[in-house]
Amino acid sequence: MNRIQKPIALIVPVFNEGDGLAVFYQEVKKVLSTLPEYHWKIIFVDDGSEDNSWQVISELSEQYQDVKGLLLSRNFGKENALTAGVQAVGEEIDAVIFIDADLQHPPELIPQLLAEWQKGFEIVSGIRKDVADYSVIKRMGSKLFYTLMAWFSDIEVIPNNTDYRLLDKTVVSFLCQFTERTRMFRGLIDWMGFNKTHLTFSAPARNTGTQQYSFIKLFRLAINSLTSFSLLPLRITGYIGLFIVLSSGSLLTYMLFTHLLEWTVFTPLAFFVVFNTFLLGILLSGLGLVALYIGHIHTEVVQRPLYIIRKKIGNYKDCI
Ligand code: UDP
Ligand code: MG
Repeated sequence: MNRIQKPIALIVPVFNEGDGLAVFYQEVKKVLSTLPEYHWKIIFVDDGSEDNSWQVISELSEQYQDVKGLLLSRNFGKENALTAGVQAVGEEIDAVIFIDADLQHPPELIPQLLAEWQKGFEIVSGIRKDVADYSVIKRMGSKLFYTLMAWFSDIEVIPNNTDYRLLDKTVVSFLCQFTERTRMFRGLIDWMGFNKTHLTFSAPARNTGTQQYSFIKLFRLAINSLTSFSLLPLRITGYIGLFIVLSSGSLLTYMLFTHLLEWTVFTPLAFFVVFNTFLLGILLSGLGLVALYIGHIHTEVVQRPLYIIRKKIGNYKDCI
């Protein structure tokens, strides 16, 4: 690397992508070779693949100097795999680009991401126009998720925003300081602010293999994201409880009053039912409140590592 070249790391999360990695590397290299003003490192983070992904990564790293690899001890999920990649490069680079290993994030977009970055944007993200191989359910799920996220969370969420992103090193250094456990990268990055812009792209079908994000995994991610960026679902429980307390409380007072004045005579059962509803309201609002505290405590207390690196290829300090 000469001194004028800017060091950039491509971080590629890999889970059972062995068949496609060599093609991915070639496709990416085609684009990178047109960008000689940058010094590239391609960091594959093997998120506990069960196929030959790690072997392919090792072979690529032996063959090509710009390839590095991290092997996580099991499948920690894409979000944590990206975190592992970011923390490995740290501040040794000028920017990182997250890109999927299945070529659904077209490498041809890289020059445009860089062009926006050169204009001074610190976060450049790819917005997916359409996805070739998404099922109707996945499309609908995605739509529902973004609608809920927009309603519930305090951060601005752009529909169909992806993890295909370029982050400037200032963003990376802040990202490394995040200690929160349940993380949704996109959400965290949106939350951070900075000078942002986006580009749109059409996602082609995967080059090989099957989608690694099963419906269950996506559902879990969606629930995690919603709950880690918003306490509104919990607060709603509390509000419902509060509403019940107030309405049944007033009704009970009214009933007692009119009963004592002998305007209307209520049966003991009627009193019992309203009183029970009142108690239920108290229970529900208390639950909402307790759940809020538990939510906070839970995030702080679970000091589990985000990932465990089993092996490393290469020295990450030599990026400069
Ligand atoms: N991936 C990962 N860990 C996982 C699931 C997926 O590192 O537990 C990687 C996967 O290898 C791919 C990227 O994350 O590079 C996106 O996965 P996928 O194509 O299944 O998701 P989608 O295209 O539906 O967003
Ligand atoms: Mg994909």
